[in-house]
Amino acid sequence: MKIRALLSDYDGTLAPEDVSLESSGLPKDVGDSLLRLSTSLPVAIVTSKDHDFIRPRTPFARAWACVSGLEIVLSDGRTFAASKNRGRLLEGLNHARRKNASGLTFELKRSTTKELLAFSIDWRRTSTPTSAFIEATSAELTGMGLTVAYDPAQPYLDVFGARPDKGRAVKELKRLLSVSGNVLFLGDSVADNPAFEEADVAICVAHGQSLDGIKSGFVMRQDELADFLRSLADDPSLNLSALKRR
Ligand SMILES: [Mg+2]
Repeated sequence: MKIRALLSDYDGTLAPEDVSLESSGLPKDVGDSLLRLSTSLPVAIVTSKDHDFIRPRTPFARAWACVSGLEIVLSDGRTFAASKNRGRLLEGLNHARRKNASGLTFELKRSTTKELLAFSIDWRRTSTPTSAFIEATSAELTGMGLTVAYDPAQPYLDVFGARPDKGRAVKELKRLLSVSGNVLFLGDSVADNPAFEEADVAICVAHGQSLDGIKSGFVMRQDELADFLRSLADDPSLNLSALKRR
């Protein structure tokens, strides 16, 4: 099967997620392989991170669907944003900050025009909040008209001003990059399921997380990724029978 574009999640898939936000980055071998691959195939990122965070960390990409698709930025400068409910989002952020008593990190996700699109409540640097706290906070924010995404396998909660959809982002990227043919999507969590379903080949990168509920056809260990991407750069014809099925 000839692959015409590689689309990928960032956190956990290309970059280790058990590090602080500031030190997050691609392992050198993965970055080198993607740089090489990007000379033969369009590579794009579909991430819950915002543009200012993701772009310097993935310079090989031709497009970025940021904040789970709420803003799409192309390397040629074109930008497409779906921003809504900014007032409610600020209200939700202030509410969550007032409740915060345990050193949680708030990551603000902004568009290229600095508009707030989403925020994350992150506990990588502190102890995990109780499930009662997470449930109550999620319910309060949902009640304020915001979209809350929480996966118990992840050390954070994402709060969006508009409904995010990584599947819609994949569709849009295919159109904007004029991709006709097979798309390979790499992800690592249930948040990637809509993108997995939209792709022609879906591979989950396994790094010790639970694979329950993840809807990818194939699975690959994180330490196999750089070699896999390098061989795809040499030959975009993917031998599916050499991949591990789930
Ligand atoms: Mg991920």
